[in-house]
Amino acid sequence: MLNFTVGPVMSSDLVCAIGQEQVPYFRTSEFSELMLESERLLKNFAGAQQNARSLFITGSGTASMEAVVMNVFNSQDKVLVVNGGSFGSRFVELCRIHDVPCTSIDLQYGEPLTANHLISYENKGYTGFLVNKHETSTGVHYDMQVISDFCKRNDLFLVVDAISSFLADPFNMEELDVQVMITGSQKALACPPGISIIVLSPKAVMRINHNKVRSMYFDLSDALRNGERGQTPFTPAVGIIRQIHARLKEIDSNGGVNAEVSRTAALAQNFRNKLVGLPFIFFTNCMSNAVTPLHPLNASAHQIFLTLKDEYGIWICPNGGELKDRVFRVGHIGNLNAEDNSTLVNAMIDMQKRGLI
Ligand SMILES: *Cc1c(COP(=O)(O)O)cnc(C)c1O
Repeated sequence: MLNFTVGPVMSSDLVCAIGQEQVPYFRTSEFSELMLESERLLKNFAGAQQNARSLFITGSGTASMEAVVMNVFNSQDKVLVVNGGSFGSRFVELCRIHDVPCTSIDLQYGEPLTANHLISYENKGYTGFLVNKHETSTGVHYDMQVISDFCKRNDLFLVVDAISSFLADPFNMEELDVQVMITGSQKALACPPGISIIVLSPKAVMRINHNKVRSMYFDLSDALRNGERGQTPFTPAVGIIRQIHARLKEIDSNGGVNAEVSRTAALAQNFRNKLVGLPFIFFTNCMSNAVTPLHPLNASAHQIFLTLKDEYGIWICPNGGELKDRVFRVGHIGNLNAEDNSTLVNAMIDMQKRGLI
């Protein structure tokens, strides 16, 4: 299998090997130590403050998006949501479900956010800001400096879903004054799906501890208390947590987060350079290193996805809804290299010879 989707992605041999092992009992000092070491590495990679915290939620990325909306905001807040695709609209929906007053900043598919979009929201009594740093559905990578400056000026509590860009693009919570960062196990962490991670600034920890949440499983103040001793309130996906730990240590020993971001950037560039002569155009000009979104000029994007999967054994990422026939995405996260890029591009060249694209 050769998998260029945006999650689940290809895992390293070490991560795969752990997946074959028996899953150990977890209320032990050994497991607590593993959790605390993972927390330390995650905070370091996210550029979080020393006294920040990180939580492991058993549930996909959306579970952590929902937990965050429920725990850091309430009906007294008034939040702005950048809505440029299916993940932005998921935040809008979550705010509505949990009675958090919100305004959706609607963008066209593929449109980047600029300072101009925010002008009309200056000094309007907003308290929070939600953004998917990389709107994976369209491949648009938002300018975090513009957002951070706006939030600092207006004293907004900034929540960033970095699920698909963490470890792929530069990011620093402290510099950007980000209070909450969310990521997931099956994107650049390149582990199986099932765990999502929330990194919380000290300010976010305070907010959570003073907020009232009507939920047992998603009560983050309970998770924070348990996390102090490297534990979780309920049984976590123990096997995946062990894989994440191994993967974090792997990244650390290969030069840390900067080396991993540079490696991904080079891999994305390598792929984009190889596209010359193929009948595709980039769907947006503001791309993350994690994904290249492509608009085929002569063929259906969905048909290209099916042909690559069924006739070449290569998986790219299809789009849904309105973009189904207009856009497909090629991921650069997970255990991929430049040779894999050539394999994919050669398959595309072959399809071109066959008159399929
Ligand atoms: C993958 C992803 C999610 C989470 O999706 P799940 O299917 O719940 O894991 C959320 N936001 C973004 C930007 C993503 O790329």
